[in-house]
Parts: sequence; structure tokens; C-alpha cells
Amino acid sequence: MEENKQIKETKGIDTSIIYDFKQYPDEISGRCDNCGNTLFKSSVKDFIFLRECRECGMKKSI
Ligand SMILES: [Zn+2]
Repeated sequence: MEENKQIKETKGIDTSIIYDFKQYPDEISGRCDNCGNTLFKSSVKDFIFLRECRECGMKKSI
């Protein structure tokens, strides 16, 4: 069996925590701090806008 899963290098940011954008602004605007990905999944929960990285799952409230 072959596994084609690519293991992306991340900075080891805990993806189970929702980070506050004000406290943790993007190092590079529009890019994930953890893996540098530019694709995000957005959702709104309790009137808080959540941005989740599609690659590593890091979450920020904006
Ligand atoms: Zn990411």
C-alpha cells in the first residue's frame, strides 16, 4: 500500500485553540501563520467570524 499523504511543515501551532486575530494578526496578511496556506474555510458562530485553515485547521476569530 502506498500513502501519498503529504506532511506539510507547520510551526506547531495548536490547532485546537481559536486564536484572536487582534492578539495574533497574520504574519503575512491572508496566509495561515502555521503552514502558510491561503485557503480558508469561514464560518460564523455566536456572532463571531471564524476563519479556519483548510490545510492544518488553525482557527482564528476575526
Ligand atoms: Zn494552516
